[in-house]
Amino acid sequence: MDLLSIQGSVDTTPLLSLPSPIEPLSFEGRSLFLKRDELIHPHFSGNKARKFHYFLTHQFEGITTLISYGSAQSNAMYSLSVLAKIRGWRFCYFVEHLATFLEQNPHGNYHGALVNGMELCIGKPPQSIDNHTLMIEEGGRQAESEWGLRVLAQEIEEWRVAQGFESLTIFLPSGTGTTALFLQKALNHLAKGRSRVYTTPCVGDRAYLTAQFTMLCRDTHHHPTILSLDKKHHFAKLYKENYKIWLKLQQQTGVEFDLLYDPLGWRTLLAHSELFSTQTPILYLHQGGVLGNESMLPRYQRKYKDLA
Ligand SMILES: *Cc1c(COP(=O)(O)O)cnc(C)c1O
Repeated sequence: MDLLSIQGSVDTTPLLSLPSPIEPLSFEGRSLFLKRDELIHPHFSGNKARKFHYFLTHQFEGITTLISYGSAQSNAMYSLSVLAKIRGWRFCYFVEHLATFLEQNPHGNYHGALVNGMELCIGKPPQSIDNHTLMIEEGGRQAESEWGLRVLAQEIEEWRVAQGFESLTIFLPSGTGTTALFLQKALNHLAKGRSRVYTTPCVGDRAYLTAQFTMLCRDTHHHPTILSLDKKHHFAKLYKENYKIWLKLQQQTGVEFDLLYDPLGWRTLLAHSELFSTQTPILYLHQGGVLGNESMLPRYQRKYKDLA
């Protein structure tokens, strides 16, 4: 049965492929494990599926409309369009502006969301909403995200125990830091802090990410460890090093990663060789976002013709 065809259904959990598989992976001579959250469902996957899991599986009495805001190419926007379609909600999405090129040539997440019935509004989201409307913060940066990340932590913890590992080093790249923070917090509760979450800021700098963590949770015990490269990095800018590592990942692992977060994630992880010199296995979290490559990949291909 197709998840998208079930209007207004509530218990959709069995349609998501959970737990997502964990597979051994070898890259650049390093051995690690990959948690494949991009395989949860063709249209609802990655960390957005984890963050919005709560909204998929709980009753929302009287809700008819979902509102959110952010960029016109975001992975969150696309996942919310799927969520709204499944739940039979109207979906109104606010953007500050819409690039003319994108408006005239819809592609990637933007195109997918329009096909799912998203109504795009230019401007700021409303300050107050009525009780038929549900507002989800930009990128799912909100308390309800914790629910789905507890499910993820549970899956990881059950796998760790089954494998007989003492602890794990978990790595994922961050935007708002919501995924990394709630994952560390849930693991602390489940396994008394045996496993540590490491992350790197892709959107802002270290100070921005720390501020995000603090906003979501004051207790610094639950804050993931932040790793970074020395060079400054601008989100969504085209870097040759990012494209190179993305191509290498494809060649060596056969897995398609996202082009916005994962290249910096992998570069940062590989640069911290000390993480590989302990007995603790490393688990990389694939957070989905592959549909967004439809807009990023042609830009990379045009800019670095020599590489592809
Ligand atoms: C949204 C997203 C992130 C960032 O997640 P946060 O919870 O905001 O840190 C990372 N990777 C991918 C592929 C994403 O779609």
